[in-house]
Amino acid sequence: MSLLELDDLSVTYTIEAGEVPAVRGVSLTLEAGAALGIAGESGSGKSTLAMALLRLLPRGARVGGRILLDGEDVLTMKWGRLRAVRWAQASIVFQGAQHGLNPVHRIGDQIAEPLLTHGLAGPEAARGRVAELLRQVGLPDWRARSYPHELSGGQRQRVMIAMALACSPRLIVADEPTTALDVMVQAQVLTLIKRLVAERGISLVMISHDLSVLADVCDRLAVMYAGRVVEHGPSREVYHAAAHPYSRALAAAFPTVGDPASRLAPKGLGGDPPDPMRLPGGCAFHPRCPVALEECSTLDVEPRPAGEGREAACVHVREKEQEAS
Ligand code: ADP
Ligand code: MG
Repeated sequence: MSLLELDDLSVTYTIEAGEVPAVRGVSLTLEAGAALGIAGESGSGKSTLAMALLRLLPRGARVGGRILLDGEDVLTMKWGRLRAVRWAQASIVFQGAQHGLNPVHRIGDQIAEPLLTHGLAGPEAARGRVAELLRQVGLPDWRARSYPHELSGGQRQRVMIAMALACSPRLIVADEPTTALDVMVQAQVLTLIKRLVAERGISLVMISHDLSVLADVCDRLAVMYAGRVVEHGPSREVYHAAAHPYSRALAAAFPTVGDPASRLAPKGLGGDPPDPMRLPGGCAFHPRCPVALEECSTLDVEPRPAGEGREAACVHVREKEQEAS
């Protein structure tokens, strides 16, 4: 059994102007101990998907499909069970650590909180565990007494990772964990995440707009466009020999990990992602696609086999296979 299985997941926000289909029929699996990267430009539905995993979406978001965590459907779980699962089985590190830390509480107390609320440690044991967690993320013990504003952005992100690790979850979801950091610090935090995942056998879902970052950390990659997974497969192949034109464009936009020129604004990716409320007909990528055919404006193809353990939702994929056979 996979640790995480998304089956036809969809999320639709309702706003005054109408419906926003942010995630549209995503099916993905993650094996225990593996790392899955989710890539895509801003607005492609990555954070919505991450929040759906632990039912952290705002009220008014409609969720469909199934999210199986260790075989249990997160979407139908009772509240008590959901509270037990959060932090202890799966935890999320959000983009920009400011959001996750309370400015008026000391770092140590905040890391200890999930331990105490889950009854995994008493106050004394929690102090010891906090010191251990701080060391594991490369911070000295005495940082437990600091307040968030006394730390740099990179240090705060390390604290968020320590919090996420506190209850020894089996799954960590990291949503753009290094995007707000400068290049040097980004590399350090990525190394830390890679090490922790490898040493502790934790499963990771890492989200980024930067394909190079994900290829560096993850075994498998899923590329999202307009709420859909347009390609998924082994990292190296998706990054170096993408089957979908959008993945190719994204890979070209992020040639090296932490490349300062392309880090925040994808270069060479012409045009903008579509407004989910006004998705173009056919393949949502066709207006920006350099190899679009006429049929792409009416035909929205399902993901197709694109090699060993790979799928891509593009008409050209079948052409390639036919040429090869
Ligand atoms: P990403 O993380 O890939 O940038 P998001 O999941 O944040 O993408 O957003 C996906 C789409 O959903 C975007 O069009 C965004 O504007 C919309 N969206 C996100 N949150 C909300 C919300 N609370 N209400 C309405 N629309 C939202
Ligand atoms: Mg996001």
